[in-house]
Amino acid sequence: MTRLTNPARRALLLTCILSSACASTTSTSSATQTPATSAPLTQGSTPGEVVLSADLLVRPLSGNVLLHVSWKEVEGWGRVGSNGLVVLGEREALLVDTAFTDEQTAQLLDHVETAHGRRVTHILVTHSHDDRMGGIREAQRRGITVHGLALTAERAIAEGNPPPDETFASETTLNVDGARALAFFPGAAHAPDNAVVWLPDAEVLFGGCMIREAAGTNVGNMGDASLSTWEDAVNTIRARVPSPRIVVPGHGEVGDAGLLDHTIALVRAAR
Ligand SMILES: [Zn+2]
Repeated sequence: MTRLTNPARRALLLTCILSSACASTTSTSSATQTPATSAPLTQGSTPGEVVLSADLLVRPLSGNVLLHVSWKEVEGWGRVGSNGLVVLGEREALLVDTAFTDEQTAQLLDHVETAHGRRVTHILVTHSHDDRMGGIREAQRRGITVHGLALTAERAIAEGNPPPDETFASETTLNVDGARALAFFPGAAHAPDNAVVWLPDAEVLFGGCMIREAAGTNVGNMGDASLSTWEDAVNTIRARVPSPRIVVPGHGEVGDAGLLDHTIALVRAAR
């Protein structure tokens, strides 16, 4: 787990923890998207961490997997940090979720190319909200193939956004030049179209917004949530991925399989 030593970063992450938001495209379309005025993040807080801007960082997670975190001001939630992954293949790379915005996604894609020598050729997006696919226009402009659930495509179109290029009904496996991933739909939870991603080589489970960080005290943005099916959805993940070594929530600090129990406890408390 990360030790935070920089006060500015601690404040940013605290904001993120307190707000625990996962922004929806619809609810943020009218939001004032002001550039962050907080103090810039300091490089080197975590070994290998690279701060690309005040609103974007990349950090080694495990093996061929990097964590990307982007921040955005979201109306009603404050400054929200959002997690995604970079999975490095031989010469190409796979992204799990874009950064929050097109600009951040452009910076992230450039960084993977210049610092890691890989071109991102595929992106898996884990639902239609803009913390998951807010950078889809930049990705598609670069000719990157974006994958998502068919329901995510439907919802993206309904929200006035471009849909993923390749869709799947309930699950798909990708092998991007050696970067292997399984994406599947475990059931409606945070959103009707939330998918999760299992990276078998690094044993990393990306739970996205349906999995809450350890510091989370509520289930987050309930706008599209399904409390009645959420617990079953978490149990479906467990059946499919019995022993993940690392579990990445949509927002906040990375943890282990305990985040699944923690999420169920929060869901029960909210019912
Ligand atoms: Zn969401």
